[in-house]
Formats: sequence, C-alpha cells, structure tokens
Amino acid sequence: MAHPIIVEDECIGCGICVDACPQEVLEVTGGVATVVNEDSCIACGECVEECPMGAIPEIAED
Ligand code: SF4
Ligand code: SF4
Repeated sequence: MAHPIIVEDECIGCGICVDACPQEVLEVTGGVATVVNEDSCIACGECVEECPMGAIPEIAED
C-alpha cells in the first residue's frame, strides 16, 4: 500500500498538499499534515510536487 512520508519537523501546516491530493488522503491536524486515508493513496506524487517545504520527500510503498 502506498502512502506519503511526512517530515513533521519541516511541515508548516499550509494545507497545499491537502488541496493537491485528488484522493483526500491528507488533512492538516494540529498544524501538521497527517495521513487520514492511507488506503486511498494512488502514489500520484502531487503532494510531493506541491509541498513548498519539501516536507513530503517520498511516497512509501509497503
Ligand atoms: S501521492 Fe497522490 S494520492 Fe497519495 S497522498 Fe500524495 S497527492 Fe494524495
Ligand atoms: S504542503 Fe508541505 S508544508 Fe504544507 S501542509 Fe503539506 S506537508 Fe505541510
């Protein structure tokens, strides 16, 4: 199953990844991006591309 890796120390909670994700995988909770719908991730890479902080360095496949 694919899911984004979020580096919490780098995340500024801007929500750009939430808006970029076509599958509603992400939410900002407590000021940090959080994976809330892991099963829906299609590994499209939009969140990785759009994060201005580089806080989503990769999509994990496991
Ligand atoms: S890789 Fe695509 S589907 Fe998965 S969380 Fe990122 S934007 Fe959403
Ligand atoms: S786009 Fe990056 S900095 Fe903004 S909420 Fe998502 S992970 Fe955090």
